[in-house]
Amino acid sequence: SSVLKIENLHVSVGDVPILKGVNLEIGQGEIHALMGPNGSGKSTLAYTLAGHPKYEVTEGKISLDGNDIAELDPCERARLGMFLAFQYPVTIPGVKVADFLRHAVSNVRNPERKEGEELMPMREFRTELRQTMKDLNIDAEFARRYLNEGFSGGEKKRMEILQLAMLKPRFAMLDETDSGLDSDAVRVVSEGLRTLSGPHMGVLIITHHERLLEYNQPQYTHVMLAGQIVETGDAALAHELHANGYAGVRERHPEAA
Ligand code: ADP
Ligand code: MG
Ligand code: MG
Repeated sequence: SSVLKIENLHVSVGDVPILKGVNLEIGQGEIHALMGPNGSGKSTLAYTLAGHPKYEVTEGKISLDGNDIAELDPCERARLGMFLAFQYPVTIPGVKVADFLRHAVSNVRNPERKEGEELMPMREFRTELRQTMKDLNIDAEFARRYLNEGFSGGEKKRMEILQLAMLKPRFAMLDETDSGLDSDAVRVVSEGLRTLSGPHMGVLIITHHERLLEYNQPQYTHVMLAGQIVETGDAALAHELHANGYAGVRERHPEAA
């Protein structure tokens, strides 16, 4: 089984150091929750794992089964089995959900494929998509919607979960920003992730949503403070932080706070 390993990771945006020595190891099949106050660097870690060009690794290592991936572009990372919801374009005018997914699946499953080359056969794709949507309780009509055209929060999350289900990554990073997620959206992610997670997938969830973590009990909870992971615990730590906030963590780590 695979391991995603982050060692002494330092990341700058512009010339500003944001991550200051992050260590984290995620095994295939494990669920990790990443928590921490606003501005502590959680999204920076997610973008860096996605290979966003704005985030510069100045020190340390990101490796998948021992292979350094810090220099790979987002598409190459996806082919190695990493999934980051936001690495995909948010709005593509005139493209339907099914078309987009067929392209994404064709790219990820065929490492040799170049732009404009053959896609996964339509019949095979359709059959798989229909079954996957059924398993996830997503209405078949959704496949014919135009991508993100007037998607509600819940529909955006359905799209993410459907991508996750079709791409079958070894590692999924979900940055669930808390603002603007209505209860339908939280339910979609919570239930979808529970359906999809298992021994084949390692998950890093960035969230404050109690419900998401109740549905998907993390084996590990990490707390980020000022660009470092200062504490790691189990699911109980996530619940404690949810109930009591970060004052206690800051007190325990004055060097970072
Ligand atoms: P979190 O997700 O924990 O709220 P972020 O990773 O979004 O934290 O932000 C960490 C710090 O990095 C903040 O001070 C933020 O202003 C800064 N930062 C993150 N991304 C950028 C960016 N693209 N440009 C400038 N500053 C950024
Ligand atoms: Mg934030
Ligand atoms: Mg964030």
